[in-house]
Amino acid sequence: ETIGQVLDRVAAAQPAAPALVEVGTGRRWTYAELRAAADEVALGLLAAGVRRGDRVGIWAPNLAEWTLVQFGSAKIGAILVTINPAYRSHELAYVLNQAGIGLLVAAPSFKGSDYAAMIESVRPQCPALRRVVLIGGPEWDGLVADGRSGDPAELAHRQAELSADDPINIQYTSGTTGFPKGATLSHHNIVNNGYFVGRLCGYTPADRVCIPVPFYHCFGMVMGNLGALTHGATMVIPAPGFDPAATLRAVAAERCTSLYGVPTMFIAELADPGFDGYDLSSLRTGIMAGSPCPVEVMKQVVQRMGMTEVTICYGMTETSPVSTQTRAGDSLERRVSTVGRVHPHVEVKVIDPATGRTLPRGEPGELCTRGYSVMLGYWDEPDKTAQAIDAARWMHTGDLAAMDDEGYLTITGRIKDMVIRGGENIYPREIEEFLHTHPDVLDAQVVGVPDQRYGEELCAWITMRAGAPALTAEAVHEFATGRLAHFKIPRYVLVVPEFPMTVTGKVRKVEMREKSAQLLD
Ligand code: ATP
Ligand code: MG
Repeated sequence: ETIGQVLDRVAAAQPAAPALVEVGTGRRWTYAELRAAADEVALGLLAAGVRRGDRVGIWAPNLAEWTLVQFGSAKIGAILVTINPAYRSHELAYVLNQAGIGLLVAAPSFKGSDYAAMIESVRPQCPALRRVVLIGGPEWDGLVADGRSGDPAELAHRQAELSADDPINIQYTSGTTGFPKGATLSHHNIVNNGYFVGRLCGYTPADRVCIPVPFYHCFGMVMGNLGALTHGATMVIPAPGFDPAATLRAVAAERCTSLYGVPTMFIAELADPGFDGYDLSSLRTGIMAGSPCPVEVMKQVVQRMGMTEVTICYGMTETSPVSTQTRAGDSLERRVSTVGRVHPHVEVKVIDPATGRTLPRGEPGELCTRGYSVMLGYWDEPDKTAQAIDAARWMHTGDLAAMDDEGYLTITGRIKDMVIRGGENIYPREIEEFLHTHPDVLDAQVVGVPDQRYGEELCAWITMRAGAPALTAEAVHEFATGRLAHFKIPRYVLVVPEFPMTVTGKVRKVEMREKSAQLLD
């Protein structure tokens, strides 16, 4: 099925069921209304000359219009290019040109940044860009009005021409390890991934899924929007950008049953001063993904947030995204120490990155995945595609993993993050977990910094709990001595108010490595 067909089917089956709620503004759509609104956007785009395969950009935080454009553009087979709201004019121009975007839908401004002005400033360098539609402005109203006077038979005809294997999205990766790459995904890739993610969360039409993770990323648009849509559940948008208090408020007000986040978001919600004042008793499940989850955080998510069935997902933009997930019945221990088992209809193997040989169970190596979920390729970058996907269609993830006898996978790090100190391979994740056991530590990240003697030394970046005194390198040394092998004890400690983050809430280790090297120089 194409995305449009799924929406039509669900809207026909449960027209009056709640589909979408924007908590900040109180706007709501039933499934019948969501379908009608998506059809208006689709017809408006047709009237603007957008055709199957044309690239439509969207540059906005989590607004309901984002979702309308997601479904509306899919109905006519336009390829939606999802642009990170944290991008600024230089990156915007890159994406507009790289993807050849003809029509751009954008928020006029967000968090004090004037998007409209940035768009105007890059327009002369972006010849493909024909039309800009600012959400909430006359351009948006015009698009919707054109859609209203469009011909529904024309839309039905266009929709019938589409194939589920058509490219439907270009999603740029988080940029954790370098400049983002545009993963090109089909309806088939993401509809099915959304479906299986939702199935493993046990979604039914009674579920209400709180989505504070960004729409521009698969976590929001696939695991969130399509995960809910394919099961007829409700999509709840707590706020345009991530705000811990607004998220907790949305869960309480909308009686959400599921909540998504990367670990840093859950850490912020748990640390919110008003935490105890919100009634979170409706929560049953949710998804934590994107980066490793510290044990302590997982325990609190289960115990203090009541997310007893919370699942861990592992995946990447290039694989639509999810490849492995824990199951509802998995023990807490499994949910903290592993990323679960492989998803239905996906294959995984762990190889020696040097030789390509498949490793025995238990041995860490590079994780490779294969199946329906592997992207079509990186947009207009055949060389990078060929490096990532081999001739047998295995996606080489760049992640280090090991599989146990029962098929549970553990991610031990990224090939690029592994620190080699004096010949010892050190996985920063292990040290981060350890630092989390210190009562004053809010969050910890460990990176390698160049060292004359050992090649690399460990540098820990730490954020402290409110009121706790800053930890020194000596204090960390004392805390770790006798509990960690000497070579794993960070030589340097930097206490910071926050870490450099990607907008998906992931820590930018590349930046931290560079900064540590500068600061310690
Ligand atoms: P870029 O590819 O641009 O450097 P990125 O890899 O962070 O950025 P994404 O596609 O958003 O971009 O993220 C996928 C990566 O996130 C995975 O390759 C993996 O390293 C990490 N990841 C995802 N889920 C988990 C998880 N549950 N535990 C540990 N790491 C995870
Ligand atoms: Mg990546």
